[in-house]
Amino acid sequence: MKVEEIIPQYYDSNIYIINRKIIIDTGMTEDYVLRCIEEVMPIEEIELIILTHAHYDHSGCANAILSRSNAKLAIHEADAPFLSEDNLSGALNFGSRASCSPPDITYKGGEMIAIGPNEEGVEEYLEVIHTPGHTVGCICLYEANSKTLFSGDTVFSDGGIGRTDFKISAAEKMTESIDKLTKLDVENLCPGHGRPTIGNANRSIELSKMMSSRMNP
Ligand SMILES: [Zn+2]
Ligand SMILES: [Zn+2]
Repeated sequence: MKVEEIIPQYYDSNIYIINRKIIIDTGMTEDYVLRCIEEVMPIEEIELIILTHAHYDHSGCANAILSRSNAKLAIHEADAPFLSEDNLSGALNFGSRASCSPPDITYKGGEMIAIGPNEEGVEEYLEVIHTPGHTVGCICLYEANSKTLFSGDTVFSDGGIGRTDFKISAAEKMTESIDKLTKLDVENLCPGHGRPTIGNANRSIELSKMMSSRMNP
């Protein structure tokens, strides 16, 4: 799996480009994000946009990418209704409106998204893991071959965790969700904000679980 990262501006989410065809989260600073993607690849060649959840800082540029490509938009079914909600998506907090199109694909968790063969010819997949907590429809994406976890706003590097005080949060499920992540073997953690952890990310996720069990008892 080839991962290229766009360093976000302001409150944008991190943006990860997978194998030059899939985008995980989109940020919200449109001109900047589109310019950065174009530096990596032509926008019209994007095939799939996967949103880790509906928050505007992750979904704000989805429409701009969709209007310049034939990409499909994918998100967990529980977060899909919030994409077009000014308040629940958090768009109003950033002085914007939530104009995101309805998704083409909704996940329940457990799906295996084919991302193509790696350099050795081995087929690789992103496994969709439903991790309610920060929002009810948060997902993480796990690529087993490189042991890489894209964790959205569920866990961050160095034991961080996402807020669980939004109207669309499910605080009571957060620790259970992070517990699911501790069952994976994670070398590299690519979170929705802040720097990735490269190497032994299991330790960081264990710390996040401890943090969550204190904050979301
Ligand atoms: Zn975020
Ligand atoms: Zn969020």
